[in-house]
Amino acid sequence: QSYGFRAVGDGEKQALVNDVFHKVAQRYDIMNDLMSAGLHRVWKDALVAALNPPKRGDFHLLDVAGGTGDIAFRVIDASHGHAQATVLDINGSMLGVGQDRANKRHLAGNTTFVEANAESLPFPDLHFDAYTIAFGIRNVPHIDVALREAFRVLKPGGRFLCLEFSEVEMPFLEKAYEAWSFNAIPRIGKAVTGDGEPYQYLVESIRKFPNQENFAAMIRSAGFERVTYRNYSGGIAALHSGWKL
Ligand code: SAM
Repeated sequence: QSYGFRAVGDGEKQALVNDVFHKVAQRYDIMNDLMSAGLHRVWKDALVAALNPPKRGDFHLLDVAGGTGDIAFRVIDASHGHAQATVLDINGSMLGVGQDRANKRHLAGNTTFVEANAESLPFPDLHFDAYTIAFGIRNVPHIDVALREAFRVLKPGGRFLCLEFSEVEMPFLEKAYEAWSFNAIPRIGKAVTGDGEPYQYLVESIRKFPNQENFAAMIRSAGFERVTYRNYSGGIAALHSGWKL
């Protein structure tokens, strides 16, 4: 059975994604380390450095597809405990793990966990200082809708930052990366969760995601200005940035 996008409709695609993350929620953080060989930590640090949250005053982050809270905790730490973070995810199992982690880290006072869809944010216009989404937007069926929602909820001067797998720039790296993605990742998934097929689907979703330039154009179409991107690890991941001016 193929999990390619052509074979499944949008509703089914979201259902498949939900199923993967319900199954993996308790082991998500260890899976992330295994599947990215620890690199996701470096890429997330780059996102937080780019955001550079203020160390005083009010700063309210919305981290969409925030899962187990990784980005939110890093931003709060970088703000020396001043930032407030709303972690939004469509998956209650991932958020449950995030809430437990927040309690253990004594960050419950800085965090709010909201179960909702990136395509329909349950917040008023002009509400947040920053919007982040890490390794989540490629799972959202209508990326243009999610980007418009990001623009709507940001205050003027607000920052949009998106970390996502992207197009690898170097041919030799691409070959190694493909071997890793199509062989190792489903195998790790199978070893840890008992089922490798959903990971095949997630790997395929990386291939279907627009490349750096095309995604930058989509961000501009949603209304963002000064849109730029930076590649990490030869383009395995890219960080896109935009401003609501
Ligand atoms: N941002 C976290 C990180 O970097 O560790 C989690 C990333 S995880 C690969 C992708 C997350 O996207 C999952 O928690 C999943 O439930 C969430 N997700 C998928 N579709 C979504 C949607 N339509 N709206 C909100 N979250 C969604």
